[in-house]
Amino acid sequence: MSSISRSLRGFLLLELLSGFALTLKYMFRPKVTLNYPYEKGPLSTRFRGEHALRRYANGEERCIACKLCEAICPAQAITIEAEPRDDGSRRTTRYDLDMNKCIYCGLCQEACPVDAIVEGPNFEYATERRAELIYNKQKLLDNGERWETEIAMRLEKEAPYR
Ligand code: SF4
Ligand code: SF4
Repeated sequence: MSSISRSLRGFLLLELLSGFALTLKYMFRPKVTLNYPYEKGPLSTRFRGEHALRRYANGEERCIACKLCEAICPAQAITIEAEPRDDGSRRTTRYDLDMNKCIYCGLCQEACPVDAIVEGPNFEYATERRAELIYNKQKLLDNGERWETEIAMRLEKEAPYR
């Protein structure tokens, strides 16, 4: 572009006007951005979010303390202790999950024979302190109760592919 042409464009404010025209053009198109956190986009059923421990419909814990999730976890984020109950069934007395270590690989969920430990749809659990991300069994069970409907729906949709 010659210097005369550049000067002319500058003098007539053509760059400015083309910028305004572009703004005007997009002002009336459907918005591609979301007003988060008031609006949220769709999540895949395979999304790996915050962990949860599930119960059966009768309230019994699903986890049978087989420790497969603890063994397979590549980040060694899971710590389990277990004891037999009076009725002979085996259940965890401690189930800690250090979310600071977790790499969200999903292997714990894959390894679990009873769909007890799962990665749910929740991704809004940021904390101010690292200590708050060390989950104990009660916290994980509470997550399970809170998200059971969504988790069950996701597992059902994924069942044909597992
Ligand atoms: S998602 Fe992966 S890293 Fe996180 S607890 Fe499960 S197995 Fe460990
Ligand atoms: S969560 Fe599943 S894999 Fe882990 S100890 Fe319990 S039953 Fe076993």
